[in-house]
Amino acid sequence: MSAHREWFEKDYYKVLGVSPSAPERDVTKAYRRLAKQYHPDANPGSEEKFKEISAAYDILGDPAKRKEYDEIRQHGLVGAGTGARGSNFTFRIDDLGDVFSGFFNRGRGAGGAGGMGGPQRGANVEAELHIEFRDAIEGATTVVNVVSDVVCSQCGGTGAAKGTKPSICSDCQGRGVLDDNQGLFSFSRPCPKCNGRGIKIDKECITCTGTGVEHKPRQVKVRVPPGIENGQKIRIKGRGEPGRNNGPAGDLFVVVRVGSHPIFGRKGKDLTISVPLTYPEAVLGTTVTVPTLEKPVKVKIPQGTPSGKTFRVKGRGIPKKEGVGDLLVTVEVVIPREISDDQKQAIEALARVTYETPRRTLEAEL
Ligand SMILES: [Zn+2]
Ligand SMILES: [Zn+2]
Repeated sequence: MSAHREWFEKDYYKVLGVSPSAPERDVTKAYRRLAKQYHPDANPGSEEKFKEISAAYDILGDPAKRKEYDEIRQHGLVGAGTGARGSNFTFRIDDLGDVFSGFFNRGRGAGGAGGMGGPQRGANVEAELHIEFRDAIEGATTVVNVVSDVVCSQCGGTGAAKGTKPSICSDCQGRGVLDDNQGLFSFSRPCPKCNGRGIKIDKECITCTGTGVEHKPRQVKVRVPPGIENGQKIRIKGRGEPGRNNGPAGDLFVVVRVGSHPIFGRKGKDLTISVPLTYPEAVLGTTVTVPTLEKPVKVKIPQGTPSGKTFRVKGRGIPKKEGVGDLLVTVEVVIPREISDDQKQAIEALARVTYETPRRTLEAEL
């Protein structure tokens, strides 16, 4: 523990970048900003810095602790023993890990803090949702099936057998921590007897074997926003696994799989469609009627259009927040496998008057 005792020598105001006279609101603001900036998930290797920030806020964010900290810093440690009216300053250094995982869900549930006490945030859960092409464009409200840990239905999460109640841990009197008094300060550690839960279970619940959670399928309502794309994730706060020891639940991430459409495709916010043309249509030009998500549109195909050419119809694509996409019409010249005698004669006549060869550049290489 001695390694941790340097804390009162640290300038926590400096750590948080606030003045010693900063109001509580500003301290919290500074902490949130720094915690986000130095969060280890976003910044690998910043764990030490993050711990320092959290330790600073643990003191400065609590008006009583802050007052005492200020007094100690002002009067010095030596004189503080008599002056500080029976100090009960408790700094739960061991809980820092839980503070992190509680706020940010590092390390899936149990986190780096292992099985220690204190609230633990539930794990995030991922589920797949398959939706129709049109629902992805228009948006829909549906349900997704999730199989994950939920609060035990039998014991309501206490972990105690039916008809029994958990009792308060006699070692820690339900606090979940034990104090080590070291002079003026007391440091606390998780109670080993109850593993920090603060309760004692005499008879375990059969359904969850005392853990308070059970593995169960459940349905979660999902609102799919219009214009969602295949593979995008929807986050549903608090619908992941339940937290332990009154910790908050994790989040549910729904991965959206968009089904294909018989005629339409998608390219971001553009809708794509392939339109077959006959050879005469491509050569002579025509106007084709093309289906869209709403009313069909007429697209003019100019004379001499090559197969594979794409025409853009403005504003007939997928409506999105940032604007409506376009309809991309790609024409494809279809060559019939079988033709009638009349057609055969006509094409032979065409062949007789086709003097130009499209292979001129190739022939130059022969
Ligand atoms: Zn205990
Ligand atoms: Zn149970």
